[in-house]
Amino acid sequence: MNSDDVSNVVTFAREREILTAVRGGGHSWPGKSGCDDGIVIDLSQMHAVTADPDKRRAYAQGGALLGALDAAAHEHGLITTAGVVSHTGVGGYTLGGGFGRLNRSYGLTIDVLRSAEIVTADGKIHRISEQDEPDLFWAIRGGGGNFGVVTEFEYELYPFDRNVLSGLIVWPVSEARDVLDFYGGWYLGLSDEMYVGPMMATMPDGTSVIVMEVVYNGDPAIGEKELEPLRNVGKIMDDGVKVQDYNVLQTHEDATFGHGIRSYAKNGMVKEITQELIDVLIESFVADPRAAFFTHTAGGAVKRVGELDTAFPHRNAETMISVGGGWTDPEQDDEAMAMMRAWFAKLAPFTGGYYDNIDFDGDAATSNFGPAHGRLAKIKGQYDPGNLFRLNSNIEPTA
Ligand SMILES: Cc1cc2nc3c(=O)[nH]c(=O)nc-3n(C[C@H](O)[C@H](O)[C@H](O)COP(=O)(O)OP(=O)(O)OC[C@H]3O[C@@H](n4cnc5c(N)ncnc54)[C@H](O)[C@@H]3O)c2cc1C
Repeated sequence: MNSDDVSNVVTFAREREILTAVRGGGHSWPGKSGCDDGIVIDLSQMHAVTADPDKRRAYAQGGALLGALDAAAHEHGLITTAGVVSHTGVGGYTLGGGFGRLNRSYGLTIDVLRSAEIVTADGKIHRISEQDEPDLFWAIRGGGGNFGVVTEFEYELYPFDRNVLSGLIVWPVSEARDVLDFYGGWYLGLSDEMYVGPMMATMPDGTSVIVMEVVYNGDPAIGEKELEPLRNVGKIMDDGVKVQDYNVLQTHEDATFGHGIRSYAKNGMVKEITQELIDVLIESFVADPRAAFFTHTAGGAVKRVGELDTAFPHRNAETMISVGGGWTDPEQDDEAMAMMRAWFAKLAPFTGGYYDNIDFDGDAATSNFGPAHGRLAKIKGQYDPGNLFRLNSNIEPTA
């Protein structure tokens, strides 16, 4: 399968007005990468990733998975910023923004995207970048799958020692107040190299915990010093932060989010971790092994990109907060989702906008794209006036 094949299917679907879904890694929470009575352009055969160490670039086909991107870069002592579950697709992940554990050093994944090959609704294959068709290149960096089928992504790579100071520090949830109070006063002063993300969850045996996920992208000795104050907070149950292969953390949630589980999530962007938010985080916590509160830390390089430099406008957020989880029994669908919705509803007043890659109900695309929406709708009108690519956070085309 290649870009010409994709072009043929796109043309076939457009000419016959057939409902069309595009599948990269198949991780879409709302299930937008599949459809009934339509065509699914399944890119899973286009999964190759290659790296060029001289140019410091990785080239990932549109159906590649994040684990393959990490692996191709590692082979040459390089890295780029990729998400936290290795079987997520580069496709949907990148086009929506791309949050991972190296964001504070390098920005979102759209910030390290240097070019892309894309098949637009008219069947044409374009190589786009900041120099070539810059409007379309701007739009795909945050505008999701609205503009065509991306058959190749080109990412910048950075020198990286894969043995990094990383791991989890775990406290019983009874220590949450001390841990979050400390974190609320500490996180704003952290270096770009330091990624620390809080999480509250309940283990299968019923023990509820508060966890800090740590990655220090630099000299471990310097990282240890920066981390020391956190290690002095409360009574730690387990401190697993040590120098270890970056892949340990990059794959440790793969099984939890294995294929076939039922899953749901809601999230919002947060500019400031206030005392009020900390209070609500503690009061709202639901001790249910099916669900967790978790974060994707932003700030650093993510925040230094201008609000409209890409189509992802939520640049001034320090972190993304989410409630999400998984279960196996379909009978529990309604009840589990209602529980997570009610939990997140208590946190929602502290958020502004959301990351639509991790939000099942988030279809208010117009308002969520904020000031980027007008330009996105015009570019959509230029490249997909018939809205062939509409199974996504859809942007209605304007003339
Ligand atoms: C377990 C899990 C962990 C996650 N972790 C993270 C994380 O750490 N960081 C983060 O930022 N996000 C994360 N996400 C969210 C993730 O970014 C989105 O679910 C994303 O859509 C996944 O991309 P995909 O290609 O696997 O999805 P798919 O289901 O294949 O596609 C989703 C949508 O993306 C579009 N699309 C996909 N590929 C292409 C392509 N090549 N060309 C054009 N359009 C395409 C289509 O519109 C499609 O409907 C996670 C999701 C899950 C389920």
